[in-house]
Amino acid sequence: MAWDFSTEPEFEAKLEWMRGFVRDEIIPLETLELDWETFARITAPLKEQVKERGLWAAHLPPELGGGGFGQVKLGLMHEILGQCRYAPGVFGNQAPDSGNAELLAIGGSPEQKERWMHPLLRGELRSSFSMTEPGAGADPTMLTTRAVLDGDQYVINGHKWFSTNASRADFLIVMAVTDPDVSPYQGSSMIVVPTDTPGVNILRDIPVMDHPLHVGLDAGHAEVVYNDVRVPRENLVGNPGDGFRLAQQRLGPGRIHHAMRWLGQSRRAFDMLCERAVSRHAHGSRLADKQMVQDWVATSAAEMQAARLMTLHAAWTMDQVGASNARIEIGMIKYWGARVLHDVIDRAIQVHGSLGFSGDLPLEQMYRSARAARIYDGPDEVHKESVARRILRGYAPTEVPTEHVPTRREAARRKFAEQLSLATANA
Ligand SMILES: Cc1cc2nc3c(=O)[nH]c(=O)nc-3n(C[C@H](O)[C@H](O)[C@H](O)COP(=O)(O)OP(=O)(O)OC[C@H]3O[C@@H](n4cnc5c(N)ncnc54)[C@H](O)[C@@H]3O)c2cc1C
Repeated sequence: MAWDFSTEPEFEAKLEWMRGFVRDEIIPLETLELDWETFARITAPLKEQVKERGLWAAHLPPELGGGGFGQVKLGLMHEILGQCRYAPGVFGNQAPDSGNAELLAIGGSPEQKERWMHPLLRGELRSSFSMTEPGAGADPTMLTTRAVLDGDQYVINGHKWFSTNASRADFLIVMAVTDPDVSPYQGSSMIVVPTDTPGVNILRDIPVMDHPLHVGLDAGHAEVVYNDVRVPRENLVGNPGDGFRLAQQRLGPGRIHHAMRWLGQSRRAFDMLCERAVSRHAHGSRLADKQMVQDWVATSAAEMQAARLMTLHAAWTMDQVGASNARIEIGMIKYWGARVLHDVIDRAIQVHGSLGFSGDLPLEQMYRSARAARIYDGPDEVHKESVARRILRGYAPTEVPTEHVPTRREAARRKFAEQLSLATANA
């Protein structure tokens, strides 16, 4: 089947507008120290421009106000948004709100869409996805948070952490065990919990490498204890036991968007690397003239190109056959993209020396953020294991390796016996 990542000129014009808009209107905000209210005041008219262009919350299907663009086009848009950590918010694509809106779009009841999803899309509410527990992350079958039906209410008890945005959210989507007697794949569910429900205790925003002091505009990663939290049974998303199915549907497109945003970041770091290489002199020549620096430039360019093609191919496969049939492609870009991001930023820091290590360039912040990419949405190792398992399913065990030369020689002698005997006779 031919691959086709091309986009029509009308869409290319939208991308071109986005490039200029992100460069001129959003990236300059990075350098200012803003409180939330000032940031909201500055970005409100920018969001209006995005809406006027029909680019707001583009990840959603058209019936929910999105562009119906498909994953390839969304990927290309996210590559632009990834350059600046504020850009996704200005385009109505900010995680975890974007993924939660998608989740409610897929599994939510009409009432849930009305009460939670539409206000989320309009930017009136904020949300969090609360799945990981201190004792269960990479393997979510180990979740212990329980939701027990008591009359018409679910009663939730459990301990979560790394619930991004929870301390600012209006509601949380909590993954909990609703039936401990079946496999976790059938016994886990997602439930909408308004943050002000009694028993929801947001303990703290956890200090992390990205934000050791957790100040500023970025979302924190909260530790949350759910203590006899009661919500109406109608807050269940989908059916009881749908948790894992919904989580997969939520994460598939999200990983394409992550990987393309990482490319936007990588490209920015790469441009800094190249600019420095041609600007700085040491030991008698430009850094650009040193073979080791040339190796960084050449290797980074090749790795980014590979990551970009892999990600667009994963997006295209998803558009053709759906996320559940593109698991290998989606898994590969998660660990490959995260590594490329890390390595390109690392080289860009190195070529800048102490300046690269300093807060006078954005590289040190980019590097700290990039490190998390190898952990969130499932660590590299889990994705590699899953990709390898799926690939290995296509292979059968053999007693003698298929490529065993003596065995193949024997078979070839039988196949060409007639011609070989003539050759011997003529010798
Ligand atoms: C910045 C950030 C934001 C996050 N946001 C959210 C959020 O909004 N909501 C949410 O619910 N969670 C969130 N998380 C949590 C994230 O999804 C988990 O950290 C991730 O799933 C890994 O779980 P864990 O941290 O418990 O690691 P663990 O499960 O303790 O795993 C630790 C390590 O063990 C190794 N490992 C695990 N399994 C295997 C295996 N099969 N083979 C080989 N090695 C293995 C890996 O090296 C892994 O890194 C976030 C995390 C970060 C860092």
